[in-house]
Amino acid sequence: MRGNHESKEEMVERLTRQFRELLEKKLPEEPGTLEEIERVTEEIGTEIKREIEGECLGWHGSGYLGSQIRCSCGAVSKFKNYYPKRLVSLCGETTVTRSYYHCSSCGEGYVPLDAKLGLDSGCTSVGVRTKVGRLGAMIPFGDVSLELRLLCGIALSSNTAWRIAESMGERVKKTRGVMSSPGFGELRGVPKG
Ligand SMILES: [Zn+2]
Repeated sequence: MRGNHESKEEMVERLTRQFRELLEKKLPEEPGTLEEIERVTEEIGTEIKREIEGECLGWHGSGYLGSQIRCSCGAVSKFKNYYPKRLVSLCGETTVTRSYYHCSSCGEGYVPLDAKLGLDSGCTSVGVRTKVGRLGAMIPFGDVSLELRLLCGIALSSNTAWRIAESMGERVKKTRGVMSSPGFGELRGVPKG
């Protein structure tokens, strides 16, 4: 993981050495069949993706901003503890440690790292949620979790997939409601995405 005083260039140097070792270890002496080439490419690619994601996440640290910060209510929010959170992205699954602040005046909790990473209360990335939404629209919902694992290597429980699809469905409904209301007629022909 990136040390506190490591520059971006030093980090690139370190990762390059690491990836070189990985290639030396994983690449076979002979190229082999397409199946073998595919397997080794997938293995190396997956490892590199995970490593880079982990490095970038670690770069943020825990989001610690000192023993106390200003709460949005104007009072003081105090650092309480570090809490782990499991994240699922297209690169795999990882756990980040987040600093947690609490304001006894208004009762609000605040996690600076969540704001930096653009996280909501869930554990999945936008990329994962998009895939869940697409699969959920195409196949019976009971199969989404399994297909997600088989096709994309993403491990998500059926319950989590269900919650994602449900909230996406709600958003689509709301958007359609807004677009069909008077004054939004001109937006109807806009292609999605
Ligand atoms: Zn407050």
